[in-house]
Amino acid sequence: TVRDFGIGSWTARRARKTPHRTAVVGPGGRFTYAELHERVHRLAHGLRGLGVRRGDRVAYLGPNHHTFLEALFAGGVLGAIVVPLNTRLAAPELAHCLEDSGSEVLIRHGGSVPGAQVRRTIDVGGAGPLGYEALLADSPAAPIDENVALEDPFVIMYTSGTTGRPKGVLLTHGNLTWNAVNVLVDMDLAHDEVTLCAAPLFHTAGLNMTCLPTLLKGGTVVLEPAFDPERALRLVEDLRVTYMFGVPVMFDAMARSASWAGADLSSLRRLACGGAPVPAATISAYLDRGIVFSQGYGMTEASPGVLFLPAQDSAAKAGTAGVPHFFTDVEVVDAAARPVAAGQRGEVMVHGPNVMREYWGRSAETAAAFADGWLRTGDIAVADTDGCISIVDRAKDMFISGGENVSPAEVELALREHPGVADCAVVGVPDATWGEVGKAVVVPAGAPPDGPALLAFLRGRLAGYKVPKSVAFADELPRSPTGKILRNTLREEFR
Ligand code: ATP
Ligand code: MG
Repeated sequence: TVRDFGIGSWTARRARKTPHRTAVVGPGGRFTYAELHERVHRLAHGLRGLGVRRGDRVAYLGPNHHTFLEALFAGGVLGAIVVPLNTRLAAPELAHCLEDSGSEVLIRHGGSVPGAQVRRTIDVGGAGPLGYEALLADSPAAPIDENVALEDPFVIMYTSGTTGRPKGVLLTHGNLTWNAVNVLVDMDLAHDEVTLCAAPLFHTAGLNMTCLPTLLKGGTVVLEPAFDPERALRLVEDLRVTYMFGVPVMFDAMARSASWAGADLSSLRRLACGGAPVPAATISAYLDRGIVFSQGYGMTEASPGVLFLPAQDSAAKAGTAGVPHFFTDVEVVDAAARPVAAGQRGEVMVHGPNVMREYWGRSAETAAAFADGWLRTGDIAVADTDGCISIVDRAKDMFISGGENVSPAEVELALREHPGVADCAVVGVPDATWGEVGKAVVVPAGAPPDGPALLAFLRGRLAGYKVPKSVAFADELPRSPTGKILRNTLREEFR
């Protein structure tokens, strides 16, 4: 057991090495590492005064803000478990997360939350004794040392809920530390990184891929409370941003925005993207400007990084999700758990110190998620002869048409190449002859294109059984906050 090296110790270690460097800048102000460290330990004292002990759950609800990071580190200092909540959830869904995690204390920043379930609520920006700033001011700044080990639980992060109800993933200090190390090694983050965090902190993209590696290295995190493509481009220019991690819809929106052509992006050293399939047009928009743009692949259960495309291959292997992170092993296997050859499809299996130990309070689901100690991802992939892996689809989204497996993501990538298609989704719907057939739901770019013409366009590019049998048009697609298409919603609608 290696004690004392939990993530709660990071601000003390950084304050020792780089006290005057800016750790965080955002709507709530600018804080050096020394200032962050002091605020974290004041909050830890405050939480302890409210009865928070090792293993207790402390939930945080709010947009990206320095107080989120303070709560995270303070929880880490105490050995408590921090539960980041998704601000887009409806009241009953939030109540479910609070209850599911057994959170006793809730730190909230705006919004109306069913606070009834929790013992104490602390309001960021709130006045009075349980206002966040008052709690800090009334608490000592003396450092707390609770002896937290890497094996100790640190956060419960909820999955995106793309395939069902979000599941709470219990991640340890070690899980997140190893992920941060993987990111530093494979993305080559530097001590003077200026990282734009415009993805929400309550998901792994914002917190684990963006903020934690930057803060470990001593760089500066720029927090954006809500993503806006124009503002993001302006921040890149004004603050000389060097790194940003986001989901594909964010990078797509930036490349389509009015400021794109005139924006000075010369400070960027790399952009990294993951969480959903990345349209080829999005990748080339960045590569064409000479910006290193790399796709990664991961999942909350793996803290989340699993695969990442190295910068030197970002053009040659564009479209693939690259190779396993340094301290992570990956196999692509068939139904009998045997590794498949290059060019063959199989399920992605993951093993590494970044992989979760369990879903919180769901032992049956935890057991089902592992085979021989390897995490079963439920994602289908294919490797090329250089070992570069492309994510093809989720096993749950695939459907069988006339005995052939169809991958909706593959059909969508082809459909997106049509100029009349701004966005699209394909789902399998029941069919008397073929069992299931594809249905394309298209968001038109301008005037809706002719449905049969779209299908003819696909017939020139895909095998017949992959081509949807019908097209519906929509103003927008149901998407999760991270930009994933909610296929269950579409399947229900078109059943
Ligand atoms: P839930 O598990 O609740 O259904 P979710 O799986 O979408 O939701 P996350 O953990 O946020 O929740 O997302 C991980 C999933 O995102 C992966 O399992 C994979 O399906 C998808 N994904 C991640 N990166 C990529 C990528 N580069 N290309 C395609 N899909 C990706
Ligand atoms: Mg999942």
